[in-house]
Amino acid sequence: MTQISPEISELCRRTSMVSYLEKRGVHVMTYGKSRKCCCPLPEHRDDTPSFYIYDAADGGEVFKCFGCGVSGNIISLIAKIEGKKNGEVVRQLAEQTGVTLGEYDPSMRTEPYPDEILASFCAEDAESLVVSMLLRDFIQVNNGSEDAVNKACRIYQMWDDFSDYGDGEYTQQKYGHLGIKNIYDVETYAINLVRSYRDRSE
Ligand SMILES: [Zn+2]
Repeated sequence: MTQISPEISELCRRTSMVSYLEKRGVHVMTYGKSRKCCCPLPEHRDDTPSFYIYDAADGGEVFKCFGCGVSGNIISLIAKIEGKKNGEVVRQLAEQTGVTLGEYDPSMRTEPYPDEILASFCAEDAESLVVSMLLRDFIQVNNGSEDAVNKACRIYQMWDDFSDYGDGEYTQQKYGHLGIKNIYDVETYAINLVRSYRDRSE
């Protein structure tokens, strides 16, 4: 898997997603190891905070919106919000942060792969360890396909909702029809999903 170039990683490390959003009037809340806010992307009208920000392994930050499904890093976030091309944002950030780009090649990859983003969301905290490991496994077995990442993200969102809202009316309305009534059911659901894919590939 190709890595993002060191200059791009450096740009991302030096530009805080939270500061960028707060300057634009977005209220960002701390949530465990992550931060969350209502989705700031222009195409998404978000009333509940669906937009999560997490520390990436390379020291930068990644985001995933569980409402509209869009994910990325600070470069793609600025590009989407300000209607710019990734290359424009790269040059703009280089100037602001003092990173020397050398020969900037527009074909250079500027965004992390979806499975890298999800891996950041599956950071191992004691509570969600089992689900995180299952989902990482699942993504690996499926070679990081977009479909697998989306399925895994959906389960991660369920886990989050049950951690946030417990097994009250909100979660019952959202997941009751899937037979998921509490956080243990989410775990079982994840186990069954991974198992069904393993069976298929055997
Ligand atoms: Zn969104």
